[in-house]
Amino acid sequence: MVQSKVQLNSPVMYLKGVGPQRAAALAERGITTVAELLNYLPFRYEDRIRFTPIAEIVPGQVVTVRAEVAAGGGATVRFARGRGPVFHVPVQDGSGKMYAKFFHGAYLQERLKEGQWLVLHGKAEYDFYRPTRIEMINPEIELLASNESSEDSTEVGRIVPVYESIAGFSSRTLRRIIYGVLEAVDTGGIADPLPREIRERYRFPSREDALRYAHFPPAEEDVEKLNSFRSPAHMRLIFEEFFAYQLAMALRRMSDHRQTGLALRVREDRIRNALKKILPFRPTAAQKRVLAEIVADLERPYPMHRLLEGDVGSGKTIVALEAATIAIENGCQVALMAPTEILAVQHFLSARRIFEPAGYRVDLITGGRTRNERELAALKVQVGQTQLVVGTHALIEEGVKFEKLGLVIVDEQHRFGVLQRKRLMDKGVAPHVLVMTATPIPRTLALTLFGDLDLSVIDEMPPGRTPVETRWATEDRLAGVWEFLRGEVAKGRQAYVVYPVIEESKLELKAATAEYERLAKELFPALRVGLLHGRLKNEEKESVMEQFRRGELHVLVATTVIEVGVDVPNATVMVIEHADRFGLAQLHQLRGRIGRGKEKSHCILVADKTIKGEARERIEAMVATTNGFEIAERDLKQRGPGEFFGTRQHGDAAFSFAQPLRDHEILELARREAFALAEDEARAKEVGARLDAASPAWQQRYRLASVG
Ligand code: ADP
Ligand code: MG
Repeated sequence: MVQSKVQLNSPVMYLKGVGPQRAAALAERGITTVAELLNYLPFRYEDRIRFTPIAEIVPGQVVTVRAEVAAGGGATVRFARGRGPVFHVPVQDGSGKMYAKFFHGAYLQERLKEGQWLVLHGKAEYDFYRPTRIEMINPEIELLASNESSEDSTEVGRIVPVYESIAGFSSRTLRRIIYGVLEAVDTGGIADPLPREIRERYRFPSREDALRYAHFPPAEEDVEKLNSFRSPAHMRLIFEEFFAYQLAMALRRMSDHRQTGLALRVREDRIRNALKKILPFRPTAAQKRVLAEIVADLERPYPMHRLLEGDVGSGKTIVALEAATIAIENGCQVALMAPTEILAVQHFLSARRIFEPAGYRVDLITGGRTRNERELAALKVQVGQTQLVVGTHALIEEGVKFEKLGLVIVDEQHRFGVLQRKRLMDKGVAPHVLVMTATPIPRTLALTLFGDLDLSVIDEMPPGRTPVETRWATEDRLAGVWEFLRGEVAKGRQAYVVYPVIEESKLELKAATAEYERLAKELFPALRVGLLHGRLKNEEKESVMEQFRRGELHVLVATTVIEVGVDVPNATVMVIEHADRFGLAQLHQLRGRIGRGKEKSHCILVADKTIKGEARERIEAMVATTNGFEIAERDLKQRGPGEFFGTRQHGDAAFSFAQPLRDHEILELARREAFALAEDEARAKEVGARLDAASPAWQQRYRLASVG
């Protein structure tokens, strides 16, 4: 079949070599049209202009080799060690012979027949058992269509794009399809959605040129540069992706600003006095600065959308309560939503302590309260009697209505979906929104993930804190650790002992319940020990927490349920067993539970000295620093943004090839340009529509990411 001109909006299904079944696989990845297929960029480039001859391979190097399967391959159990047979394939290229070895490679048997030409890419090494032989373990391979004499121009003799395979499509298949599309596509259709002045300012190639270049770069391009995504073509495509996202955010912001919000009065003695009255301590400079930013928002006639970022223990709560005071003094109600029952109750208790003397009425709505209590509380909210209502996601249920909701505060944002935030906001008419997070998100990521929120950062700890001292102890030193814990308790302090799981598991982890028994009976018979884990009923959890808070328990054995927000300043010791099983952000959050008073605090991470790799780096990072921003940066590098925030809600998947961390300069640039363009709303909308048309699938995702 002769392929006629392909249109950008044609379904991929009708492309040669696709068809309905494969189209379904592509659709799973958000690729339904030709335009979307062209947005699927290679993740790597290989120089196949010059292959390394086998005879010239220097062991230890990553090389690309073109060779033919020689006789004598097959499955072997030689190095198996329980991993199943290793499939080994001898290959030769005229200069020499080497071996490719594949774990779980039995499926290759059919494909790697003698005489088959292929490209292998990977690290070449000496065979451990036969040091005269060169081998490649699990190389990336690509079968070539034919032998040397009639080779396909997409596979060799050029810089070759390598695509991440998609079910049913190898990199090679994708390459051929995309090559075909680029040949046949109606060029008139690849319009350039970026405004001309931006294109000129950064000397970006046109969208069409950029796409052609990124898929099939010319032979003279530097492969290194391509692989670092810094060719002009890549920069432009990355910019465009960020720009589309930030423009959506900027437009959203414009429409927020058109909503008539409640301009609150702040500059009145009555309100200044009210604020003074509730403050239990002198705010830090950072707290003052952040409050001023919030106040400026509250005074404007459109709703605040602000993210308040501050490390654990930096004192976000009081800032939130100050904002609440302003709202209440203006006759509005305030909702404070926390991610867990424990945290909600804790916020409720401290809000009540601070607010009741001032005469404000505070209430609590959580799943843990009885139905009657909840209904009564909801009623009081509805008639406007309650001024501050604290709660869990129970707050967003249908039954909860407000008389006049003026301010929504969401604590520990990353645990809520953006949609939940939105549902709470919808209970008022354009209420002000303050989102608090204890996860110190690097600015770049905050811009990406919360691009529609303004950012305030508390970057200073309240005075009189001594940084927590963290050490790494091995299992065999546990006796000493417990001795130390006893000593601290004898001085009047309290301690947490944290375990990763709550029941005995095959992983041989010490379960919190089992350990609790042992600690209570054998190790600390003279101390009062409590147990807190996620499977306890809410009242039990709350009562244990309350006992610990009141100092009636010396030691609290717990799982990560204490990770968020718990505030007991007298607790100065935290022992974390199997510390290597926790993520870095999690360890940091856990550690944030101590070091909240004036006494020196100690965090002891228990883990084998033999742990390696990322687990080891995590422990070392914890020992090296208590700075949450540093920890967050390291965590991001280890796990990537998706993991960092939990994948439930975030827009990190919104990008096809841009990576906020790697590309943060481009992101900042794109944000600046997008917000500048949005000043001219009509024009910005026009550009937005063009960007939409260029890549509808992304836009879909951005929209989800920018809800709320
Ligand atoms: P987080 O930012 O983690 O929510 P909190 O608001 O819970 O931190 O504050 C941690 C502790 O520090 C609380 O016990 C709080 O009362 C105390 N605190 C906050 N700000 C100050 C301050 N300016 N001076 C003294 N103590 C403060
Ligand atoms: Mg807090």
